[in-house]
Amino acid sequence: MTREMHPSRWGDAAQAGPLPDSTRELVEYAFGLQERPAVAYPQVPAAALPEQIVAGLRAIVGEEHVLLDDETRRVRTRGKSTPDLLRARSGDLADAPDAVVRPASHDQVLALIALAETHRFALVPFGGGTSVTGGLVARRDDVVGVVSLDLIRMKALREVDPISMTAVLEPGLRGPEAEALLAEHQMTLGHYPQSFEYASIGGFAATRSSGQSSAGYGRFDSLVVGLEVATARGTLALGSSPANAAGPDLRQLILGSEGAFGVITAVRVRVRALPTVKAYEAWGFPSFDAGSDAMRLLAQNGQLPTVIRLSDENETALNLASHSNVGGAATEGCLMIVGFEGTDADAVATKRDAVSALLTRSGGTSLGEERGAAWVQGRFAAPYLRDALLDVGVLVETLETATFWSKRDEVYQAVRDALIAELGEKTLVLCHISHVYETGCSLYFTVAAPGGEEPLPTWLAAKAAATEAMVAHGATVSHHHAVGTDHRPWFAREIGPVGVDILRAVKAELDPAGVLNPGVMIP
Ligand SMILES: Cc1cc2nc3c(=O)[nH]c(=O)nc-3n(C[C@H](O)[C@H](O)[C@H](O)COP(=O)(O)OP(=O)(O)OC[C@H]3O[C@@H](n4cnc5c(N)ncnc54)[C@H](O)[C@@H]3O)c2cc1C
Repeated sequence: MTREMHPSRWGDAAQAGPLPDSTRELVEYAFGLQERPAVAYPQVPAAALPEQIVAGLRAIVGEEHVLLDDETRRVRTRGKSTPDLLRARSGDLADAPDAVVRPASHDQVLALIALAETHRFALVPFGGGTSVTGGLVARRDDVVGVVSLDLIRMKALREVDPISMTAVLEPGLRGPEAEALLAEHQMTLGHYPQSFEYASIGGFAATRSSGQSSAGYGRFDSLVVGLEVATARGTLALGSSPANAAGPDLRQLILGSEGAFGVITAVRVRVRALPTVKAYEAWGFPSFDAGSDAMRLLAQNGQLPTVIRLSDENETALNLASHSNVGGAATEGCLMIVGFEGTDADAVATKRDAVSALLTRSGGTSLGEERGAAWVQGRFAAPYLRDALLDVGVLVETLETATFWSKRDEVYQAVRDALIAELGEKTLVLCHISHVYETGCSLYFTVAAPGGEEPLPTWLAAKAAATEAMVAHGATVSHHHAVGTDHRPWFAREIGPVGVDILRAVKAELDPAGVLNPGVMIP
């Protein structure tokens, strides 16, 4: 059973720890230490849902699954971006839902949507609560209240088709739960975002998530074969064949719709055989450009391994200085992590040889398996470190984008420059290429700066400047974190007025009363 997250911290409290000494020393040297304790028990505002609505919710899901208590509302408030955490740390839980409702079936979700339309309250689908783009913060101005639609009871593996290699999963399954159920059938989804421990199947689909192994297994949207969606118009069932030319692919309207068009109640996914062979290794490159060129060639030659990521010089240096996990001889240049998974040792070895040959030809040096294994071991640890850094006054957050190979350096420089211009020369901007495609890649930035007295407005200004730089240089506002409320203004520019009108028209059709996650995603 996954433990609930504290509203102002990431993850399982049992796994969190104080700032490691080596990092503390680095922070003290770079920014100075400023103890910034969080409000231990932030209070939620009083719930304001009319009794008639509460009675209606109870009639649909049963009394015990309509939760009005402060504690439940507290842990269903907002997501886990740094602004979300900063607000909660300062004691602000103003966006708490008025109630949390836990349906057990598709039909109950349909009934809840109908009730929301009748009484005009907002329904906010809640999967794992790991949104980093304000996707769980519904607008309140046009509704009588906000209800969190917690999918925690919809956790079945409904169906497995071992011939076609598909499985039907319910939306409330968290990453580890889905993998455990599939492993009973010797199958895997292979979807490992850094939020894996908490994020859910419904959330992956609703945000078009991308995981650390997406080079090998595919982005989540590419794993989706079919969808069952509860909308205000009724049920939308999509994906009756492996591929088709039957008009536009409506699955793509639902993938990434962030609860604004309907509630995803089941997802048919493509699965793979559970890997029995795994090998992870590290490579060193003399520069970010050299490593990036090698990645591009791998992608364009169709030789991508299961995992591939490349840290820039700053991220490499900081990793090496602050952890021993990827430490060692190469303190200059750029670190690449490469991972191979499969069921056939010979096939894995053949692929590994081919990849190694290309990386060597591109100027790379093998640094061995130890550092690859260390990366695997520590791959979910960074978000815990963020809390410890916020505790000592460091503003730390991540942001991401994607662009074509030909613009990779331009976008990289523009985002870096925007962040440093806004946050000051002391700012640390680290970057890695997190996902690669034949035509381009995703750039994932980690930013650390002194938080000062007003860390929230300071960060919001920096994030705006960085996003402005992305859009100005033709890159996307999000490669995998979605739109939420945070990216909406820039998203409108990315898709243009015709794109905005299309989304609004679909919203008007599928959610005419505007009760599904109002204010999220649709510009
Ligand atoms: C520390 C950390 C690391 C992260 N790493 C990654 C990463 O590596 N890759 C990545 O892609 N993302 C990452 N994220 C972002 C986040 O985990 C993803 O967006 C994830 O897919 C959200 O899943 P969730 O179940 O937590 O969704 P939630 O946060 O619960 O919801 C996200 C949005 O989807 C909607 N929604 C949820 N379930 C449904 C449903 N069943 N039907 C309709 N709408 C629904 C919600 O209303 C909301 O708008 C990270 C976040 C954190 C905090």
